[in-house]
Amino acid sequence: MHSSIADGLCERCVPSEPPELNRISVLGATGSIGTSCLDVIAAHGSRLQAVALTAHRNWEPLAQQCQRMKPRFAVLSDASMRQQIGGNAFPRETEVWFGAEGLERIARHPDVDTVVCGIVGAAGLRGAWAAIEAGKRVALANKETLVVAGPLVMQLAAKTGAVLLPVDSEHSAVFQALQSGRRRDLKRIVLTASGGPFRGWSRERLEREVTIERALAHPTWQMGPKITIDSATMMNKALEIIEARWLFDLDADQIAVVIHPQSIVHSFVEFLDGSVVAQLSPPDMKLPIQYALTYPERWAATSPTMDWTRSHQLDFFPPDDEAFPALKLGFEVARRGGTCGAVLNAAKEVAVQRFLEGNLKFVDIPRACGDILKEHNFDAQPTLTELLRLDDWARKEMQQWKSSQSI
Ligand code: NDP
Repeated sequence: MHSSIADGLCERCVPSEPPELNRISVLGATGSIGTSCLDVIAAHGSRLQAVALTAHRNWEPLAQQCQRMKPRFAVLSDASMRQQIGGNAFPRETEVWFGAEGLERIARHPDVDTVVCGIVGAAGLRGAWAAIEAGKRVALANKETLVVAGPLVMQLAAKTGAVLLPVDSEHSAVFQALQSGRRRDLKRIVLTASGGPFRGWSRERLEREVTIERALAHPTWQMGPKITIDSATMMNKALEIIEARWLFDLDADQIAVVIHPQSIVHSFVEFLDGSVVAQLSPPDMKLPIQYALTYPERWAATSPTMDWTRSHQLDFFPPDDEAFPALKLGFEVARRGGTCGAVLNAAKEVAVQRFLEGNLKFVDIPRACGDILKEHNFDAQPTLTELLRLDDWARKEMQQWKSSQSI
């Protein structure tokens, strides 16, 4: 078994086959990734089995999912939900646990082969860490795991033999395209970005016209609210740059971003000889989720496939760094590493919350994150404890942040 995705892409490594029956824990089952994941599992019921499902507080959708999938375990990671759930909501065969420790227990459980990390935000780190520590196959949607603690996570995977499989569509595309060549012949990767609802807007227009409703209306992807706002600011692409830096062991200058409004080409890799290899499909997360569950095999599609009987137009153009300064932050953090990812992510999570509550302007999200990043005490080789302490610090700073321009 190979130790990390970077190693897994070397020609000397043999890809690990998925088990005959892949027993799966879905962390964040009630979210956008989790729901798509359950559809994939249901479509391939003879080879995929949901053993455990989790939610944070949404017990009713979780109970409905349990009625449908009949897992052995369900976890509500907010322990206070114990008092709230209805008597017969969960099926008899499902044992229900409460609290964040429950997440760790099902991530490590000996009867689980694969852990899907579909929790949103830095809260997803705990379950992902437990799964990697237990040496599982880990289908990683939660990009924050690598943004916050990339080097530590990759070192842990190398030590335990955990196999990290990307779910983020861009990283899955890079992973798939990389298999056409040798890792050492890679020149760079190019992450595609739809550009979000404000593609083509100037900085001035963003200052004046953005509303919460418009920011939540993504043109091509159906996602949870946090990542949808992150797509609108392009902070999502910043996080993906950092995720790719650690996942594929790249230098920051081996990563580029291109705007591609149709979201059909999910990313490219460019080899030393100038050859560019891409992965294409209609925008639907079920494909990268399924590939992470079946890798290295490919099974029948559960999502729409390309219709080549009609014409398609694929456009590509460079991003506007001035209107969307989040991208520069992403490259800066990928370059500096250390504590920067934890600080940027925590600041950004609170900034998005404040924006959704109407307490922070859209254009202030990257501005405020940049300020807090600048202020923090940088450490090039932090421990996990230090990263968690800085996560807490950055959240408090962002709660208090005020724009000097609006005073
Ligand atoms: P959603 O907001 O739709 O779902 C989040 C899930 O996490 C829910 O099950 C939620 O439970 C659970 N959750 C929320 N807070 C906590 C917490 N504090 N502790 C434990 N569980 C919690 O998110 P998405 O599915 O959109 O995104 C999930 C992850 O996947 C993110 O990291 C995102 O960046 C990444 N991703 C998502 C894509 C997408 O298409 N959606 C694409 C690529 C990556 P509850 O329902 O109870 O709140």
